Amino acid sequence: MTECIFCKIVQGQIPSQKIYEDEDLFAFHDIRPAAPVHFMIIPKKHLDSLVHCQSEDQALLGKILMKAPQLALQQGLHEGFRTVINTGRGGGQEVYHLHVHILGGGLMPPLQTKK
Ligand code: 5GP
Ligand code: ZN
Repeated sequence: MTECIFCKIVQGQIPSQKIYEDEDLFAFHDIRPAAPVHFMIIPKKHLDSLVHCQSEDQALLGKILMKAPQLALQQGLHEGFRTVINTGRGGGQEVYHLHVHILGGGLMPPLQTKK
């Protein structure tokens, strides 16, 4: 059995606030929101991170990004939203099941400049 928490969320073994599901994708609210609206879109297929995607995953990655504005609008983000993919330790990735964060509501601050 998988130990991946996002696979468990997809399978309903861990509860989540689901906002969307189809045969390939699952979307749910982040448990620790970093913005007034913060949800994630993930592939149902387990992929550790963007680095682990192969050319066969190209359409799936495209499907995730095409779904982002649809779900963002459904969640009321009419002024726009931020899309974040953390990859690897250097990218601050905590959960090693590929996910795209969608954040918005109010105005997002600019990205931090390098200290
Ligand atoms: P990462 O840092 O890997 O890009 O983001 C992982 C995100 O998953 C974090 O924002 C964290 O709050 C969220 N998260 C971790 N565990 C759970 C969980 O069990 N349920 C939900 N809904 N979100 C989670
Ligand atoms: Zn997984």
